[in-house]
Amino acid sequence: MAVSLDNPARNLASRSAPDIAPASAAGSKAMSLQFEITPAANPTSEKDRAARLVDPGFGRIFTDHMAIVRYNQAKGWHDARVESRANFPLDPALAVLHYAQEIFEGLKAYKRDDGGVNLFRPDANARRFQSSADRMAMAQLPEPVFIEAVEQLVRIDSAWIPGGEGSLYLRPFMIASEVFLGVKPSAEYIFAVIASPVGSYFKGGPAPVSIWVSENYTRAAIGGTGAVKCGGNYAASLRAQAEAIEHGCDQVVFLDAVERRYVEELGGMNVFFVFDDGSLLTPPLGTILPGITRDSIIALAKDSGTRVREEAYTIEQWRAGAASGKLKEAFACGTAAVISPIGKVCSTSGDFLISGGAAGPVAMGLRKKLVEIQYGRAADPHNWIRKVL
Ligand SMILES: *Cc1c(COP(=O)(O)O)cnc(C)c1O
Repeated sequence: MAVSLDNPARNLASRSAPDIAPASAAGSKAMSLQFEITPAANPTSEKDRAARLVDPGFGRIFTDHMAIVRYNQAKGWHDARVESRANFPLDPALAVLHYAQEIFEGLKAYKRDDGGVNLFRPDANARRFQSSADRMAMAQLPEPVFIEAVEQLVRIDSAWIPGGEGSLYLRPFMIASEVFLGVKPSAEYIFAVIASPVGSYFKGGPAPVSIWVSENYTRAAIGGTGAVKCGGNYAASLRAQAEAIEHGCDQVVFLDAVERRYVEELGGMNVFFVFDDGSLLTPPLGTILPGITRDSIIALAKDSGTRVREEAYTIEQWRAGAASGKLKEAFACGTAAVISPIGKVCSTSGDFLISGGAAGPVAMGLRKKLVEIQYGRAADPHNWIRKVL
């Protein structure tokens, strides 16, 4: 039994850097739970499901089931179920509604050509979820329970996985569910996983995005929550994202909170730069979210002999590199969109284009490599794929 589950104070005291590498995080060795599986009494008809899968878009269509596990201090993790997707009863004094003790994850299930189903690095998501829980003084869910919940949901809702370039987006999350208005770590939590079929993020290949450099807002400071996946980070990014849209841009890019020079990441994606010598650079871990796509791209690039630096890079360097031609490409990456080329950077001090505003070959090549591994069409040298079906 993991001691930290019962002692939020110890979680608070722990200051270990978030890490997605295999770790001996508290609870990760604990056993899984037995899930009680109750199929939905009135699942979506095959005809309705087919209609919804024609053009699912992102995040508005949901499958018939959810996985749910509860935590309290007396019982630890218990009451693991897969059941019909339904509303949560929400007491108005529920801790999460007041103090935002909430974390989440995002990963996908991919349909292989042989009809089977792959998950991509779910163990890395499980470990990052533990880091997030630790930072937010929440109970840590054992890695096997996280993976089992995701796998059970994928199995029961496998008919919802679109073919082709589509996938089933999985959203594990955890909320503080104690009914109490005192400011302290909740004594109760609900962990759940929901699933949403998504189409190809980009029809006809990824279109380059334009990004707005946020000068008024920052996303993370040292010692803050930038490196963990908590909903509050997104809440705090929305105003900056709205400013990007007001300036005609697709996405916002944040700079560091101290010097306001170093490029950190977009609201929900990490960034990479490609130079004329073929090397890659991505901002170092610390205040950024340790993306699993970021980590995978670093590994794939190194596999093919590409030099990858995890180093600070300023907005001035970016502008000068684009002007001199030293910088060939820039791209953003994350689970939802995989890789999005950055075509244009806009700020109060003027706009500039990267690779003439077009998608570059390095970004597109890495994207293809990663997607082929995810769909089981290419060898998986790092053992990233977990076959669920
Ligand atoms: C989730 C997320 C990413 C990307 O992480 P992946 O594991 O690659 O999906 C990047 N930045 C932020 C802020 C995120 O929340």
